[in-house]
Amino acid sequence: MTDAPNWSRRTLVAQALGHIDEPSRAVVPPIHIATTYIRDPDNEYRSGNIYGRPDNATIREAEAIIATLEGAAAAMVLGSGMSAATAVFLALKPGDHVVASSVMYWALRNWLVKDAADWGLRVEIVDTTDLDAVRAAVKPGQTKLVWLETPSNPLWTITDIRAVADIAHAAGARVAVDSTGASPILTRPLEFGADIVMHSATKYLNGHSDVIAGALATAKADDFWARIKRVRATLGQILGPFEAFLLIRGMRTLDLRVRAASASALELATRLSNHAAIAHVLYPGLPTHPGHDLARRQMQGGFGGMLSIRLRAGEVAAIHAAAGVKLWKRATSLGGVESLVEHRASIEGPGSPCPTDLLRLSTGIEDVEDLYGDLIQAIK
Ligand SMILES: *Cc1c(COP(=O)(O)O)cnc(C)c1O
Repeated sequence: MTDAPNWSRRTLVAQALGHIDEPSRAVVPPIHIATTYIRDPDNEYRSGNIYGRPDNATIREAEAIIATLEGAAAAMVLGSGMSAATAVFLALKPGDHVVASSVMYWALRNWLVKDAADWGLRVEIVDTTDLDAVRAAVKPGQTKLVWLETPSNPLWTITDIRAVADIAHAAGARVAVDSTGASPILTRPLEFGADIVMHSATKYLNGHSDVIAGALATAKADDFWARIKRVRATLGQILGPFEAFLLIRGMRTLDLRVRAASASALELATRLSNHAAIAHVLYPGLPTHPGHDLARRQMQGGFGGMLSIRLRAGEVAAIHAAAGVKLWKRATSLGGVESLVEHRASIEGPGSPCPTDLLRLSTGIEDVEDLYGDLIQAIK
């Protein structure tokens, strides 16, 4: 599609960038499953492919789509969101100082707090929605990375990417954004000055709860990006080709799915905030949300499919409500076509900032009236 530079991302991604299989003229390219490739007679590898751990054409197709979605110089897909995130941290050097959000995906926060020091990283956890706290934590010359998540799990707080990037860059640090919750349809962090974007592609990018995958996208294909690429190649964190194919298929409908889920989530959040049994609805699309004005600037086309509700009657009522759903699926994860409800504190465990009366809702693409009706009968 090189002769059509003005087509929108939605158009380009619906056709997986328009790539076809030249020999057969098939509109869906084949899945490349070879683990090794023929060397040229003069001992060169002009195909660009040597061995399957770093090199795979199906993986590169998925990466080209993600780079297009994020407006990135390059993208990388990995075996999971966690492998994507940890590849960035493992590309740092021993002694490097990193600053990370206090509210973020629980397993990554746990790794940063409990394990990252074993790799020589000095980790400081701050509330990245508080710019004074970010300024106080970032140490010029020592801090190499500021990691943030927005909207952040499971409270859906909003961090100002542009403001954090300005603070970090002035101190010589990079900014990486876990943008899983927003998806590239609603926020493109590189446009707000971020250096790296990370996704659990398990969630919205794939969208069908049938692939574990991760993605990174970068503003610049610089030395740090090359180090991350070496981490993926050396540690063998590349995604499998079948999973990459499913991811490509899922991303064709990303725009439709994210917009549908966002519209339903806003409707649910608005209605639920008037429900007598619910003390708080946490959703950046509500004017009462503390990050609403910022979200309006940083998110275009919706506020995402994720919201949380806090039940007035507390933890037991929350668990009871989750037990009463018939249509919503009681399961962890998010970003799929089917709606999920989860008592989040149960999975995060001790030390989590998640209140025990909170249910996390991942809105899918079902009829919003069915979703609302099922929640209301479960909460009553
Ligand atoms: C799920 C998730 C991750 C981890 O991704 P996996 O694909 O499960 O490894 C990281 N960040 C966020 C925001 C997530 O929702």
